[in-house]
Amino acid sequence: MKTAIFPGSFDPITLGHYDIIERGVKLFDELIIAIGINADKKYMFSLEERKTFIKNCFKHEPKIKVVTYEGLTVHFCQKNNVDFILRGLRNPADFEFEKAIAHTNRDLAPIETVFLLTAASTSYISSSIVRDVIRNGGDYTKLVPAIVRVK
Ligand code: ADP
Repeated sequence: MKTAIFPGSFDPITLGHYDIIERGVKLFDELIIAIGINADKKYMFSLEERKTFIKNCFKHEPKIKVVTYEGLTVHFCQKNNVDFILRGLRNPADFEFEKAIAHTNRDLAPIETVFLLTAASTSYISSSIVRDVIRNGGDYTKLVPAIVRVK
């Protein structure tokens, strides 16, 4: 069974993440969307909210599981028999950043990172821009799945 993890903060999940997940799930038998917990980071949405948004987005997809985790992604993979890490690439900055992480992960464990190039229509979207739009009262609804709404 081919299992992959799609790790991230998902604060909140965007249409960019959604696109990578929808396309990535076709490549594996199971896709675990793993929300990393970083005690030093300040989030806009609580862990529960972020998890609920993602779960509701993919209710229809039995191959997708949503979990939270702490610590190194490769340790999560080893503990849970995950063979692949899925990541999305938007631009050269993502590539440089992801390259360093993927090389480091390969040094730590024999786990392959699989990259999917973003869809052109969502390549400019990032969670940080979405948060900025929300904070300043803009229309964020075009950037996120319909399930993501600010109370
Ligand atoms: P992180 O805290 O790891 O940066 P994110 O939630 O921002 O977490 O991103 C998780 C993954 O989703 C990363 O691989 C990132 O490159 C990818 N990603 C984020 N936004 C997009 C997008 N618009 N298109 C494609 N991939 C994206």
